Amino acid sequence: MNSLPKPEWIKVKINQSSAFKETDALVKKYQLNTVCTEAACPNIGECWTKRHATVMILGNICTRACAFCNVATGRPSPIDPNEPARIALMVQKLNLRHVVITSVDRDDLKDGGAQHFAHVITEIRKTLPSTTIEVLTPDFLRKEGAVLTISKVKPDVFNHNMETVPRLYPSIRPGARYFQSLRILYEAKQLQPDVFTKSGMMLGLGESKEEVVQVMDDLRCAQVDFLTLGQYLRPTPKHAAVQHYVTPNEFEEYYHIAKAKGFLQISSSPMTRSSYHADTDFEVLKNK
Ligand code: SF4
Ligand code: SF4
Repeated sequence: MNSLPKPEWIKVKINQSSAFKETDALVKKYQLNTVCTEAACPNIGECWTKRHATVMILGNICTRACAFCNVATGRPSPIDPNEPARIALMVQKLNLRHVVITSVDRDDLKDGGAQHFAHVITEIRKTLPSTTIEVLTPDFLRKEGAVLTISKVKPDVFNHNMETVPRLYPSIRPGARYFQSLRILYEAKQLQPDVFTKSGMMLGLGESKEEVVQVMDDLRCAQVDFLTLGQYLRPTPKHAAVQHYVTPNEFEEYYHIAKAKGFLQISSSPMTRSSYHADTDFEVLKNK
């Protein structure tokens, strides 16, 4: 399929400010991976200028191959035991009020990497107790106990993205299972009711409005608190094609639907990403 022309509301801001360069230098200095670069996120100019980066732990090679994702697939490297301490140092240098920690999928590890997530949370807490910590986890398919391992050390936000509607899972998220993703969000809430849960979807992959609304209902049944909705953008021509561009008005309509369904906080706009404005859009975190 030929690429659809990008509408004028999809604006990628190029920014090479001194703050951007400083963030870039710290990421390199502490030898960290970020989803901002690995996933070729279009918001990097804006986020890094505000010293907001999403750290990707457990390497930069994923055991899955989602059709929308730019992260490399293959055999991952061993866990780096010093990574948690380096992340804590970078968070301290950037003086982050809120940090988002995500990872590649590690189907090769017995616990899916859950213990490493827990070490990262613990290390950041030790260094900067007032920084709020959001984890954006893989689905931990067939990794019993993984959610419990993370919940025990209490991140402030437990985030896991549904990504798309169930009908599109076989083509877009072939290694994942829709109900497993819902299940871990529900489990996280049952284990720690005062930890916020969060999920998100990319729109424009061919889903219908009814299907999006159904996912919202499923998320509310799983007691999910926060929702993010953004436009899917194809990272390279090898990835799934954009089927349609959702207009800003439609995003606004989704915002109101989500609000009526009881989500506590919602970010719904073309450039919303799971971690976009994660520090500022989610007001309830400010009171923590
Ligand atoms: Fe990084 Fe998230 Fe910002 Fe993208 S939206 S640049 S992934 S922090
Ligand atoms: Fe990308 Fe995550 Fe899918 Fe791996 S599991 S390919 S990191 S979206």
